[in-house]
Amino acid sequence: MAYRRFIDAHVHYPQTAFDPTGSQIPLERQLDDLLNMERSLGCQRLCLLSTGNPPVHDAVAQLVKEQPDFVIGFGYIRLGTDEPSIVDELGDMGFRGLKTIRPLDNYDSKAYYPIYERAEARNMPILFHTGQLFRAPGSGSRAEDVSTARMMPWMLDPIARAFPKLTLIGAHLGSPSFAEAAWVARWNENVYWDLSGPITIRYGNRKIVHEMMYNAVAGAGITHKLVFGSDVTPPEIPDVVTAYDAFLDRLDADSLDKDQVFYGNMARILGIE
Ligand SMILES: [Zn+2]
Repeated sequence: MAYRRFIDAHVHYPQTAFDPTGSQIPLERQLDDLLNMERSLGCQRLCLLSTGNPPVHDAVAQLVKEQPDFVIGFGYIRLGTDEPSIVDELGDMGFRGLKTIRPLDNYDSKAYYPIYERAEARNMPILFHTGQLFRAPGSGSRAEDVSTARMMPWMLDPIARAFPKLTLIGAHLGSPSFAEAAWVARWNENVYWDLSGPITIRYGNRKIVHEMMYNAVAGAGITHKLVFGSDVTPPEIPDVVTAYDAFLDRLDADSLDKDQVFYGNMARILGIE
């Protein structure tokens, strides 16, 4: 189904994936599956994140070179590990934006300001993971040094104020701190949110979670500050599109409002016509 035009602001470079029989799906096929699924749904551009351990900057940069009209590179920066020069290095490699998660200190730590300053100077929006972070059962060690509290929505407020020309996109509407996230976007015109994760929540009560999201977004009046992001595997992307559409209906968004959320906001942020 060609749904409508959209820009997907939140797509991870494929990591290890397995088919239903348990055998590993070759990377080439995963990439094909991803790009084909996005195109078939009406995706015009996707922001591909070079997340990974280690980051997969070269692979993403290569794909951007091969498909410059479809793939937009968002370079993964590791706050507390990478030097500020990473921003220029990634920019020179053709990355148009940045992605970050799991900072070793709070997002708003002054130690990270040189990175935000370079991103602002180069007009590279930053996609911040916000809110609860997945943790696999049985995982965990002191070496991980991960804290959800360092990634809470309010952490974006001082950054947005200090770098007014930097665009901040928060992922997951700060799940489950939806109100906090929505109110950060209320007065910070350079803050946007994607709804990936909670919009198609599986191990929880989707109706209740959507109610919480609705109250936050409608209460703060920030429907126009949402952007489309999927952050799921290819077979799950149609569900995200459908869920966004239903959520926007509930917010009384007309077709123009919807086009802003699905396409227009990211087009403007990325300088696409
Ligand atoms: Zn993600």
